Amino acid sequence: MPSKVSLPPIVVWFREDLRLDDNPALAAALAEGRPVIALYVLDSGPDAPRAPGGASRWWLNLSLKALAGDLAKIGVPLVLRKGPALTAVREVLAEAGAAHIVWNRRYEAAGIAIDAELKAALRGDGLVAESFNGALLAEPWEVLTGAGQPYRVFTPFFRAMTARGAPAQPKDVKAPSRPLPEPPVLQSEEIDALLPLPARPDWAGGLRDTWTPGEAGAHRRLEAFLDSRLHRYAGERDIPGADATSLLSPHLRFGEISPRRVWFATSERAAAGDFDDRHLDKFRSELGWREFSYHLLFHFPDIGHASFQPRFEAFPWRDDPDGFRAWTRGRTGYPLVDAGMRELWHTGYMHNRVRMVVASFLIKHLLIDWRQGEAWFWDTLVDADPANNTASWQWVAGSGADAAPYFRIFNPTSQGETFDPDGAYVRRWVPELARLPASYIHKPHAAPREMLEQAGIRLGDTYPRPMVEHGAARQRALDAFQSIKNAA
Ligand code: FAD
Repeated sequence: MPSKVSLPPIVVWFREDLRLDDNPALAAALAEGRPVIALYVLDSGPDAPRAPGGASRWWLNLSLKALAGDLAKIGVPLVLRKGPALTAVREVLAEAGAAHIVWNRRYEAAGIAIDAELKAALRGDGLVAESFNGALLAEPWEVLTGAGQPYRVFTPFFRAMTARGAPAQPKDVKAPSRPLPEPPVLQSEEIDALLPLPARPDWAGGLRDTWTPGEAGAHRRLEAFLDSRLHRYAGERDIPGADATSLLSPHLRFGEISPRRVWFATSERAAAGDFDDRHLDKFRSELGWREFSYHLLFHFPDIGHASFQPRFEAFPWRDDPDGFRAWTRGRTGYPLVDAGMRELWHTGYMHNRVRMVVASFLIKHLLIDWRQGEAWFWDTLVDADPANNTASWQWVAGSGADAAPYFRIFNPTSQGETFDPDGAYVRRWVPELARLPASYIHKPHAAPREMLEQAGIRLGDTYPRPMVEHGAARQRALDAFQSIKNAA
């Protein structure tokens, strides 16, 4: 009988599934009872998927450290390599003497192309390469119209998705009952060398105060949501000052928790009678928007860089570096927009309602191409997601599938008055306005002079005047839209 050490190992290639729980690829590898090597490749090849932005790189550093620690407890080493992925994966298989690799699928065209090429090449060489669904409630090709086409509208998509019945049950990945045989020791990059943490300047202090990347942090967020937020979700999820949403987005983005686990955990609480079903239904439909975004990304892979509705390619975007800079810095003179952009810079996150308002402001008040805003979000969001970010930006622009109509132009002042009526959110992120009464917190430019003086505000100095006047900007946006309305 061969010694345990001589058993060829199985390689689990981790990508957007940085967890042990409900991880089908890892479970399949562990079930073989052979040595297991975990691999992560920072893909730097010319055909690699879009490189992570700054906030994502910070997150990845800490998430990979957490993953390495969790895997070590079950006897699985994490090997880190630099890309191109096709080369790195093949090298690791050869060095390990492995003939079997598993991974969970991804849905961005560049990633799919690499995975398909690798799978075909390995199978051609007689190796075993298997892939699983670790990221979605339903595969994009499983939910199609009666005519076998992808959906372009959310509501029928979600109806069809849920009509298939409950998603697959999440599976506990149990530590093997006996210690796994030891795999060969392979050379590995250092996490801090591969993904250096910001040092000079260290811009990540606000991120550290807000987040705990990794699987344990994800489960803590889920528990906190179940205990103190979900019972308020339907009524308060749109109120940025209410802290009523799950904050699971970066954990879902990096696969530190599976959507199946989230789906079933929330269902169990609802079944226990902790709150009424409308909260559960609303939350599930948001998970549904994530599924829909992935559905679109898979079936329409160009949505990351081209407007889904081709006529928007002729849109008369303005080149406005100063306007863009003011927007990124939270210096537009519209408090809700500025609060959102500062929350983003400080924490790597922004509340969904405010994301819609700031995106609308950039696209419609400033007429700046949605791709510039999308790229800023990609760099600064800890949940920057290839599907959700592009689909959402196109949704706001009016250029996407099932998008908000272009002529729906958010008024940033009245959005503030409706969704942040006492100004709690603005006071938190724009402290120079904190002493204004609620009636003027969203329109300091309209406040009486004595009130501004009492609040310590000098317009144009301590806080900017509005960089564009809402009514004029709105009309300019409508005129611009008119110019492409009848384009193909
Ligand atoms: P919850 O309300 O608790 O929702 C639970 C989960 O559902 C979220 O974690 C997320 O995975 C998913 N979800 C919720 N809303 C949406 C939505 N509208 N579209 C797709 N999925 C959704 N979300 C990202 O995950 N990454 C992004 O890069 C991203 N970019 C966005 C850009 C713009 C311009 C806009 C308007 C929205 C964007 N969103 C993005 C969607 C949404 O704002 C965030 O998912 C949400 O704010 C995350 O907070 P939460 O986890 O507390 O959400």
